[in-house]
Amino acid sequence: EMALLEKISDYCWQIPIQGKMRVPVIIYGSEKIIQAMDQKVAEQASNVASLPGIVKASFVMPDAHWGYGFPIGGVAAYDPEEEGVISAGGVGFDISCGVRTLLTGLQEKDIQPIKNKLADLLFKEIPAGVGSHGKIYLDKEQMNKMLVGGAKWAIENGYGLQKDLSRIEEEGCMPGADPHAVSNLAKERQAKEMGTLGSGNHYAEVQVVGKIFDETIAKVFSLQQGDIVVSIHCGSRGLGHQIGTDYLKEMVVCAQKLKIDLPERELACAPITSELGKRYLGAMRAGINCAFANRQIITHLIRKVFLFFFPGIEMPLLYDVSHNTCKVEKHKVNGQLKELYVHRKGATRAYGPNQQEIPEDYRTVGQPVLIGGSMGTHSYILVGTAQSERLAFSSAVHGAGRAMSRSKALKEWKGKEIIRSLEEKGIIIRAVSERGVAEEAPLAYKDVSDVVEAAHKADLAKLVARLDPLICIKG
Ligand code: 5GP
Ligand code: MN
Ligand code: MN
Repeated sequence: EMALLEKISDYCWQIPIQGKMRVPVIIYGSEKIIQAMDQKVAEQASNVASLPGIVKASFVMPDAHWGYGFPIGGVAAYDPEEEGVISAGGVGFDISCGVRTLLTGLQEKDIQPIKNKLADLLFKEIPAGVGSHGKIYLDKEQMNKMLVGGAKWAIENGYGLQKDLSRIEEEGCMPGADPHAVSNLAKERQAKEMGTLGSGNHYAEVQVVGKIFDETIAKVFSLQQGDIVVSIHCGSRGLGHQIGTDYLKEMVVCAQKLKIDLPERELACAPITSELGKRYLGAMRAGINCAFANRQIITHLIRKVFLFFFPGIEMPLLYDVSHNTCKVEKHKVNGQLKELYVHRKGATRAYGPNQQEIPEDYRTVGQPVLIGGSMGTHSYILVGTAQSERLAFSSAVHGAGRAMSRSKALKEWKGKEIIRSLEEKGIIIRAVSERGVAEEAPLAYKDVSDVVEAAHKADLAKLVARLDPLICIKG
């Protein structure tokens, strides 16, 4: 339980400015969620509030839990004109980790007869697990092209369709990426990892739309009760992790040199306008493109598997949105429009209606917000709201959020037993690592339904549809 917390409304709480904080901390969540929230989150969000140039507040989403330096489920915006900073730990090590959902036009009855075979083939075709390799090898030149081109590069190389791009954040290609700001080590780590899922919380999941909350918006998103969709959750693999590691080290040195008062080493950062700040931004954007390309290649692999069972099937994207980024966006602060560096770490961008940045088809209703639950529970699709701009720089939750550390989960459960009990519920798990399954046990996460309800009630995003798992491929 967290001390010093003031209740503002049923779903909004505040830690007022104290000590070195420059702005308050605002936490969204129900009383139940707040009471169960890791005490570390309040401390970490307060630390984030003490960094130079932060504006408005250090925001915490209902799915928040402890993270490296910055909490996961944190949103913080810094103003370059106020000596604002950019932080590698504020983005997270899996740069641009995100969720992509594909529509299939299939119904649950189409899947039932081949469910096991489909699971087997997906598991065979999608490389997964720690350090797994794909069939693609990128030499130095191709690597640099990928880091600039993102999903666009992947499509030019035969992985997917041109029209996929309009359904990806940034149209699948983040401008301002600088491959030369990415170390050779990061590139070497990534050379064989394109189109791989990774391990742990990353997944490819076949899901059925179990419930519709908002018929009108569901229609705009082409979602109907009983529809089959496929969701992919993964990020920038070894490359993103190495960028994070490299720049964290440099930022520690930089912060010391500039006498930026860091409550913890893990909060290392650099001024946005500094050479290091700019270089990190270029590298981080290259990481975003790597994640876009990675999810694009996995999409291609999944489509090939579905085509085998359902010749002629088209699998258009519903959307692709990242939840570990720092983006330059315009937001209102004290009635004034400002260009800010918005860090979302384990938080999804969630634009409301009429934003130029979201696909034309969705512009009147708002951006799809794609949220994972756990391998055995529901996932959700929400839509961004106009209010979220004021509430949290247009951001929302990204998942259920962990309720328990991996080591504790490992003591609590056995992977084999979890797979068996989910099998009894009709959920097929295909996982590289049984240990990984135990670490990712459904009960190691918060109740995703509580979390999304809190996001909905707080107006961060609105419920559109619930997804129920049928097949989950894990690393
Ligand atoms: P993160 O990006 O913080 O690593 O994970 C995002 C969210 O994905 C977690 O908070 C959790 O709710 C969700 N998640 C983890 N594993 C699975 C899974 O196997 N299937 C689904 N649907 N969601 C998952
Ligand atoms: Mn993620
Ligand atoms: Mn990730």
